Amino acid sequence: AEGMPVTAQTRHAELAELIDDANWRYYVLDAPTVSDSQYDAWMREIQALEEEHPELRTPDSPTQRVGAPVSTEFTEVEHLQRMESLDNAFQRNQLEAWLARAEKLAEGDPGPYLCELKIDGLAVALVYEHGRLVRAATRGNGRTGEDVTPNVRTIRDVPHRLTGDGVPDLLEVRGEVFLPVEGFKRLNEQLLAAGKPLFANPRNSAAGSLRQKDPRVTAQRELHLIAHGFGVWQGGGPAPETQSQVYERLRELGLPVSDLYQVVDGLDGILGYIEHYRAHRHEPAYEIDGVVVKVDRLSVQRELGSTSRAPRWAIAYKYPPEEVNTKLLDIQVGV
Ligand code: NAD
Repeated sequence: AEGMPVTAQTRHAELAELIDDANWRYYVLDAPTVSDSQYDAWMREIQALEEEHPELRTPDSPTQRVGAPVSTEFTEVEHLQRMESLDNAFQRNQLEAWLARAEKLAEGDPGPYLCELKIDGLAVALVYEHGRLVRAATRGNGRTGEDVTPNVRTIRDVPHRLTGDGVPDLLEVRGEVFLPVEGFKRLNEQLLAAGKPLFANPRNSAAGSLRQKDPRVTAQRELHLIAHGFGVWQGGGPAPETQSQVYERLRELGLPVSDLYQVVDGLDGILGYIEHYRAHRHEPAYEIDGVVVKVDRLSVQRELGSTSRAPRWAIAYKYPPEEVNTKLLDIQVGV
């Protein structure tokens, strides 16, 4: 564009290409070749360039998109509701800025916040029609995902039928599929013994295990699921009014929900939760890479809405990366 330094434009194009390539390897091949911190640094750099030169922020920029195109190995499924990513905060001041914006955008008091762990897995959408699981799909590019229904049916945590009173006519529930840390280690030991390439981290091992053409392979992996949201909730009594009510109701329906979330008031409460899990990061059986903070009231969530790729009513506070991932990644890249 006119008036823009050539260097900014060139660097933007370079970064977009690096990020697109990393997305492909990460989301489609389940085999990243750069660390998450390197990837996040590229994202921050391209975001900063776009802040300075908004004309570079085209709809096809990596900053405006979710995930990656779906792999041709799976049937495409259109989501009933768009699946989004999360904006990140790496520092306290970024969290404060998010909170200030939420409080400004909400008409009146946004109310309490729900804090929960950011499980390092991959998101899926499960569709239940009159209580029966009819479809499961990966997030894909947010609008279209990959049909992994037979694979998800092999996950023991996932009910094929919902239970209790108040089964919705139509429910699209979102959750994280993950491999616990021990299961991830066991899998990599098996792969090593078989002379096969290892997975870089639990997240990639979960994605690689779920996205198998043969669901019998998926069935042998120790996958779990924890629900963390919904896209559609129709019928089955009064709709939930808060994120925490959503979790209570999902639990009553027989869906797996975390016990580790907490509803808190304001910045101090949020920071208390973040500091607690910074010190107890390895207590859960699964890997976490941070904390997700959500506005608890669904009416306020709807009021705040979303940007092109992430809700304004939630933010992921990310802990600094740990050494072990980088080491494993180096081993993998070395083979
Ligand atoms: P993200 O993982 O930062 O956040 C969004 C996701 O968080 C959701 O889709 C959901 O799956 C998950 N999540 C976990 N717990 C949750 C909870 N309690 N509530 C709601 N959501 C929860 O974003 P992303 O768009 O999936 O991926 C971007 C990140 O992936 C990057 O920051 C980077 O770390 C990594 N990445 C790495 C590479 C690489 O080459 N190393 C490439 C692409 C992406």
